[in-house]
Amino acid sequence: MKTALVCGGGGFIGHHLIKRLKREGFWVRGVDLKFPQFSETEADDFLIADLRDPGNCRAIVDRRFDEVYQLAADMGGAGFIFTGENDADIMHNSAIVNLNMLDACHKRHVSRVFYSSSACMYPEHNQLDAKAPVTREDSAYPANPDSEYGWEKLFSERLYLAYNRNFGMQCRVARYHNIFGPEGTWTGGREKAPAALCRKVAEAENGTSIEMWGDGEQTRSFLFVDECVEGTIRLTRSDFQGPVNIGSEEMVTINELAYLVMDVAGKQLDIDHIPGPLGVRGRNSHNELIKAKLGWAPNESLRDGIEKTYPWIEAQVNKLRGRNQYA
Ligand code: NAD
Repeated sequence: MKTALVCGGGGFIGHHLIKRLKREGFWVRGVDLKFPQFSETEADDFLIADLRDPGNCRAIVDRRFDEVYQLAADMGGAGFIFTGENDADIMHNSAIVNLNMLDACHKRHVSRVFYSSSACMYPEHNQLDAKAPVTREDSAYPANPDSEYGWEKLFSERLYLAYNRNFGMQCRVARYHNIFGPEGTWTGGREKAPAALCRKVAEAENGTSIEMWGDGEQTRSFLFVDECVEGTIRLTRSDFQGPVNIGSEEMVTINELAYLVMDVAGKQLDIDHIPGPLGVRGRNSHNELIKAKLGWAPNESLRDGIEKTYPWIEAQVNKLRGRNQYA
């Protein structure tokens, strides 16, 4: 039986990845600081452990796993990454997890390790035009990410690729672009735009308004989590080390995203634009390289993904309302 280790298996993407690996018949170990928040893990073995401790990493990598997925990171949406208040934690915690895990895998002769980088590593100066952002993989240098989160991702990308060069490992590096879907963080400050907008729309009475940071004309693309998992697995098992974008090429403004959510919810709401942390002006995935190297690219529409995500977030909002009512 093939074996896989998913670090960050209690998080949003890791939890979905574990389900997929189980469907494929793997024996799976998950590890995280916490259990998945919204449903039971399907992992055969799930360890609560802090990967900042190198001893924990060595104990967790106790065998030569066929595949290791390193998704653990201190992360969140704009409200967490772009305020500056969490910079030291973001850089220290995520870098040390990557250093420890890669070393533990190398010592156990695990060769196939997937690492989830982020589109946040692309230079800010290429993303000032909302209509024409540049995120070709080879546009990464000269580097100029707009957040410490992006700088840490860039450092760690280089770390994994250095282990390939110097130690003959087979690490694979993807740059994820805004992943969303059911069972993702939807409240509390670490949620991202699709989940935050679904929550705000679900909470609002028809005919009222929702708040949005900025003028809403900044652009992004959003990838449904199942396609993210598909791309992750395809890349891990391929001969291509990356880095490669895993994202959608369907770019929308945040206003358009909000109106799409309202449409799916069947509500008409106004938008109050308020000051808040924003990130770059424009971002879209560029998928030529993934098509060339993997013969595959995501193709599900944003609407399809929102239609699967909105009802889940609406149910969470209603559950919370019910609890508060009886508290
Ligand atoms: P997430 O926050 O839901 O999952 C990350 C998990 O890592 C969390 O459950 C967290 O508890 C765990 N973790 C953090 N520090 C740890 C530690 N010291 N020891 C053990 N576990 C620890 O995030 P996600 O959305 O599932 O993202 C997974 C990966 O993909 C992250 O590396 C993230 O940076 C990257 N990424 C995600 C997106 C996205 O849109 N979700 C975009 C770009 C990149």
